[in-house]
Amino acid sequence: MYKYLSFLIIGSSCLAQQPQSGNTPNAVTNMTSSKPKLVVGVVVDQMRYEYLYRFQEKYGQDGFQRLIREGFNCKNNQYHYASTVTGPGHAHVYTGSVPALSGIVGNDWYDKVDGKGEYVVSDTSVTVIGEGSARAGKMSPENLKVTTITDQLRISTQFTSKVVGVAFKDRGAILPAGHTGDAYWFDIGSGNWITSSFYDDALKPWAKAFNDRNIPQEYAKIVWETLYPIESYIESEADDQPYENRISGEKKAIFPHKIKLGTLAATPWGNTLTLDFALEALENEELGKDEITDFLAISFSSPDYAGHAFGPQSKEVEDIYVRLDLEMARLLNTLDAKVGKGNYTVFLTADHGVAEIPAFLKKHDMSAGLMMGSELSKPIDEILKKELGKGEWILANTNYQLYLNRELMATKKVSVSQIQELISAKIGLIDGVYKVVNLENFNASNVPAMFANKIQNLYHPKRSGELMILLEPGWFNGYSTRGTTHGSMYPYDTHVPLVWFGNGIRKGETVEPTYISDIAPTLSQLLDIQEPNGNVGTPIKEVLK
Ligand code: ZN
Ligand code: ZN
Repeated sequence: MYKYLSFLIIGSSCLAQQPQSGNTPNAVTNMTSSKPKLVVGVVVDQMRYEYLYRFQEKYGQDGFQRLIREGFNCKNNQYHYASTVTGPGHAHVYTGSVPALSGIVGNDWYDKVDGKGEYVVSDTSVTVIGEGSARAGKMSPENLKVTTITDQLRISTQFTSKVVGVAFKDRGAILPAGHTGDAYWFDIGSGNWITSSFYDDALKPWAKAFNDRNIPQEYAKIVWETLYPIESYIESEADDQPYENRISGEKKAIFPHKIKLGTLAATPWGNTLTLDFALEALENEELGKDEITDFLAISFSSPDYAGHAFGPQSKEVEDIYVRLDLEMARLLNTLDAKVGKGNYTVFLTADHGVAEIPAFLKKHDMSAGLMMGSELSKPIDEILKKELGKGEWILANTNYQLYLNRELMATKKVSVSQIQELISAKIGLIDGVYKVVNLENFNASNVPAMFANKIQNLYHPKRSGELMILLEPGWFNGYSTRGTTHGSMYPYDTHVPLVWFGNGIRKGETVEPTYISDIAPTLSQLLDIQEPNGNVGTPIKEVLK
């Protein structure tokens, strides 16, 4: 829907791992088993950290509030790279790595070796399993070049641990499940949960039985009203705003919303359906039933669809979080009943945050803007043709990165820095443009240190462009004046929740910086298993008992 700008930080978290305090044995003070029987990773798609607090008055005691009250809250948790979109987000929660190593540089990129565009989890060698469209099933983790914490768990138990990834979006299920787990995602065309031949040669009977119950079709009959009276939603602005996008088929972006199967993703019932299916997996795969630790990775995609359309100040986003809180309570209550209190560990985080809708910031006199479609690529094309001669100088333009035609450059004896200078001179003074940087030969002193690290962590030689156009905070590239997006290196996109809860987890909170890459090595310490092979993070020692 939008082209994204993408970025990364590594900060102090990429130091070599320090041994934990000498030889002191890890004392087990609770009455439950020493290792969790089940780890549940919850990723909320497009959750800014502030959503934990802004809507807190409306949250119950058993969902987000229980995690915070009984668990450990890393309040200053950041993405440390400049490509804050869904594929990289999910990959890096589970690998502790960065795009530069993992190869997950965007939701889409241009592959320099094959000379064509690539979707993050596409795999033409596999086929759909389950009653879904052929295209929706051509997916696997083939593009992920490093192991995940879920892979390491499987390796450490000679593949006896069970790992299941579930998400509405394919990439939200596939990347967390790694190369060795099972993954299920939702095919909106058919209304069915599917997997691919990478994982299995037939859909498990329980998954087929779930599809046969036609639950999404039932949810699609619901009319979406706010859970509490709309007048009480004082944490968001008035419902009818000209810069909100409409759900397809609706004239206005206001309550009540009629739901159809095709728009289920952008409503709270996308989350409900995801948890329904995940709990079905919990039950039927018997996750957390024995002493061998299992892993359930759930990603709630619906807040992202709604967030893009309505924006972070909308009544719709408030309601989707108020209702997601009920799903979190349902998850925790079910885990208590099926796995047992103290026998499981949960972490909650997000794959990225989101920008304000530029028109909202402008209305309140703050700097922001929208770079429309080809607004930058046209002048770039013009200047290169004028100064360097005819030819296709830019092979691809995606994720705010320009993939240069190296063959043409070699023939005409033109360098990357020459092109960088020409482009900077042409577009550097345009409103909203911050800087054009050379990713291949990055000069970290040209941008503030915090952002320099985020940019350095991004560049993958085979999958990244040579040049990157950085926009100013509050700006993004898009194709509509309605709605918003994410993908920048700025705090609204990088600062996301990280809350730990359950077996092996201390009670407390910290405002010290933690990074997404610290999640996997913290789990490695909790489970006493090898960290993923591209890990750059450090265990968060305050979290662990
Ligand atoms: Zn996302
Ligand atoms: Zn998104």
